[in-house]
Amino acid sequence: MTERFDAVVIGAGIIGTSIAFSMSKAGWRVLVVDPLAGSGQGATSSSVAMVRTQYSTLEGSALAWEGFHCWQDWSGFLDLESDEPVAPFHPAGVLTFKTANNGFLEHQLGFSRQLGIPFEFWSVARLQSLFPSWDLSSFGPPVISDDADFGARSDAELETVFFPKGGYCPDPQLAAHNLQRAAEQHGARFRFGEAVTGIDKKDGHVSAVTLSGGEQISCRVAVNAAGPHGQNINALADPDGKQRIRTRVVRHEVAHLRCADAATSDASRIMLYDTDIGGYIRTDTGDSILAGSLGARGEVELAADPDDFDRNLSPQSIEPLYRLAQRIPTLGIPNTLSGVADLWDVSDDWIPIYDCTDVAGFYMAIGTSGNQFKTAPVVGELMTALISACEQGTDHDQDPISFRLQRTGHEINLGFFSRNREPNPASSLSVLG
Ligand SMILES: Cc1cc2nc3c(=O)[nH]c(=O)nc-3n(C[C@H](O)[C@H](O)[C@H](O)COP(=O)(O)OP(=O)(O)OC[C@H]3O[C@@H](n4cnc5c(N)ncnc54)[C@H](O)[C@@H]3O)c2cc1C
Repeated sequence: MTERFDAVVIGAGIIGTSIAFSMSKAGWRVLVVDPLAGSGQGATSSSVAMVRTQYSTLEGSALAWEGFHCWQDWSGFLDLESDEPVAPFHPAGVLTFKTANNGFLEHQLGFSRQLGIPFEFWSVARLQSLFPSWDLSSFGPPVISDDADFGARSDAELETVFFPKGGYCPDPQLAAHNLQRAAEQHGARFRFGEAVTGIDKKDGHVSAVTLSGGEQISCRVAVNAAGPHGQNINALADPDGKQRIRTRVVRHEVAHLRCADAATSDASRIMLYDTDIGGYIRTDTGDSILAGSLGARGEVELAADPDDFDRNLSPQSIEPLYRLAQRIPTLGIPNTLSGVADLWDVSDDWIPIYDCTDVAGFYMAIGTSGNQFKTAPVVGELMTALISACEQGTDHDQDPISFRLQRTGHEINLGFFSRNREPNPASSLSVLG
């Protein structure tokens, strides 16, 4: 054994780097290991990185609201001593609709009121003045293009809700790199180009991890933040391990195309979560946009092997654009699509698992289900609280710890994220969480 650390964080995505930052700030001697060449080069690098607050659970909304406060003062959050560039955050409101598939936002609006998250109801006339070329008919429920109902309008009027507090980070990989630098400032170390291949135990407690080169690193704590590889890491620690909530790996595709009419007439930044057509968009550079699916009847989930998956867009990737063209009739659909295909690490109920495990000293922050970039800064803090409490003897399974969100003042019971919870019936069972 060459080195000793208090904790090894497995994976340097936005989740692992955030955990490393928070733990090292709290005094832990942390090593982060990742087989890639740098931080944030896994799924994080492809993230659309939109920060919104409307979730179908109170805890999900509270975490996202706290996350928003971290992103809107990213430099302050990092508190870097060096003057290296930090990832920008572009404030942008979230435009969405009350539709049957989101329960007409009843719960989301209730939670927003409870948490003090502002929102506004917009008339169709107001929306039309902002987007003069859009077709504001109601087309839902969302269906794929060869469905007989595709393109059919209903008489229902679109009911618009606008959440002014949101935004996006146009460089999610840089954000992870920033967290790496912030963690290093507090003594954390990073090793790239090496994978964790073994998790060793002594007297039932984590004692070391083994790296792909054969080296053993002594540690009392190992944290699984391996995203789409999360199940592989769990198997290293506890091959026969059982947990009620499982995770699976799903490909998600995002198209990149030009669309001048996605811009607002008053030049304000808006992100669209169009639950009526089943798609989302946000602006990118110039008049280009990023667009993806929020789910539609007939859409097939694309299962993937994290060690061998196709990074090319599938024929299905054009489907959300066909639906988007209902809303924005001037949208030109290119003959050849460009964009990214990357992985979501999806839990059974699309709510992450932030928890201890049956192996003392082994923790996991996985199952981020395509919706946890925004919360990552807070996930580091809550995992640090959870790990510290457990290592001091708290039985989190029996007596789940409560965590205070320091910027917004709300308190959440971390049992909500348990690996052994019943699948949460309130979940949208979609990327919306
Ligand atoms: C296309 C796309 C769009 C998205 N859009 C949004 C959005 O708009 N808003 C939002 O909030 N969220 C969004 N998400 C989700 C969000 O980006 C993810 O939840 C988040 O990036 C996951 O981070 P992670 O650190 O868990 O995973 P990753 O970034 O994948 O990091 C895991 C790391 O673990 C490493 N690893 C794997 N095996 C090992 C091993 N054996 N040893 C050591 N390390 C290992 C990997 O190399 C990788 O770097 C999106 C995701 C995708 C893919």
